[in-house]
Amino acid sequence: MIELILASSNTHKAEEFSELFDSKIVIVRPATKKLDVVEDGLSYFENALLKAQAYYKEFKTPVLADDSGLNVQALSEELGIHSARFGGDGLTDKERALLLLKKMEGKSDREAYFTCVLCVYLNEKEIFYFEGRMNGQVGYTYRGEGGFGYDPAFIPTDGGGELTVAELSEWKNKNSHRAMATGLAQKFFSQRS
Ligand code: IMP
Repeated sequence: MIELILASSNTHKAEEFSELFDSKIVIVRPATKKLDVVEDGLSYFENALLKAQAYYKEFKTPVLADDSGLNVQALSEELGIHSARFGGDGLTDKERALLLLKKMEGKSDREAYFTCVLCVYLNEKEIFYFEGRMNGQVGYTYRGEGGFGYDPAFIPTDGGGELTVAELSEWKNKNSHRAMATGLAQKFFSQRS
């Protein structure tokens, strides 16, 4: 069994991770202090590494860091690794999702996917990455109460093609980009120990 601290203050993510990992293989604990890490990497991998390094340096214990975002084909420069800052600082998650729907008005290309990259940083020499993806389309209206972030504006292909992720909470737990990356990490660590 391996114990990791989570390099994030996002409580939704912490909850999703603790439900996703089998605690017999990976235990994830929230960090006792939030660090402000400048995420100026050029990829999800670089940003996950920056967070993992910062938390490892501070806590001297193995870290799980994740970087995630929504990649929208028609707005590729604006979202992706910049998803958390889409529309500028100071917006709520809901305002960002509504802004996305507004910017997509009249666009026929609605292809999008979520990415999650996990960085498991055991020490300076043992650093592992796992990537997951959830394909779908940007919806037309803000719908659903579950999840967080852009979930109410995203219709996953494998969810039936009509409901948003925010209307598919149970489905999300098993099929999201985060679930996929976590599954890969769990498989890796179960075979390693
Ligand atoms: P970060 O990984 O904390 O930097 O988050 C990146 C951005 O993507 C934030 O705006 C999140 O709200 C959004 N995001 C990441 N994962 C998800 C998800 O599972 N559902 C909806 N939005 C997400």
